[in-house]
Amino acid sequence: MTRPIILIEDEPGIADNVVYALKQAGYEPHWYHEGQAGLKAAADLQPLLVILDVGLPDTDGFEICRQLRKTSDVPVIFLTARSDEIDRVVGLEIGGDDYMVKPFSPRELIARIKVILRRVMTTTAEPDHTHETAGFRVDEAGKRIWFQGQLLALTAYEFGILALLSQQPGRIFSRAQLMDAVWSAPEESFERAVDTHIKTLRAKLRAIDPDHESLITHRGLGYSLKPSDRHHLHKDQSKVR
Ligand code: CA
Repeated sequence: MTRPIILIEDEPGIADNVVYALKQAGYEPHWYHEGQAGLKAAADLQPLLVILDVGLPDTDGFEICRQLRKTSDVPVIFLTARSDEIDRVVGLEIGGDDYMVKPFSPRELIARIKVILRRVMTTTAEPDHTHETAGFRVDEAGKRIWFQGQLLALTAYEFGILALLSQQPGRIFSRAQLMDAVWSAPEESFERAVDTHIKTLRAKLRAIDPDHESLITHRGLGYSLKPSDRHHLHKDQSKVR
């Protein structure tokens, strides 16, 4: 269910750093050494974004991007080494969304990725099917939820719980209510199962923001989603340096 980020880069030293930084930022990187293999993966995996080295052993990054653009408008960030490559990347006809000049800081790359993904999310989201609340964007029709701009990889149960909680931040839902709303055959399950899914949900949200406690336990009552507050917004912004 997770949509990966595809990295097409033939230099292992650079790829290792990028893969590490992507994982640290909570993304799921898939690394390919060669253009054609990466292109095939981009078609199969429906990635969030493609990071594309210009100088590749088989087909160059420009050609890969041209082929990719025939079927996909996935965001592309080019990695370039030489000034003549940079000139071509900056030229508009290539179809990339951004570029990084080697050597670059993986942290800067992550920052650029976040900017691009935020832009893509806001332009492609359909207002009729999504609602935003307490740092979450919920696409009921597409069964997708973003937390602070990042798409969460959720199981069907986790989606159901979070989507229900997000309909009314602050309202407490009992385990039984959550089960009724989420399970197709609630009598066959146990309320403890809700606790398990809440636990895995928390881990996924913490992977994006370790300090954020969105899911609140109400002992003996159930769970609620913490309503937005300014304090958290300020704290989140101060982290993006
Ligand atoms: Ca290269």
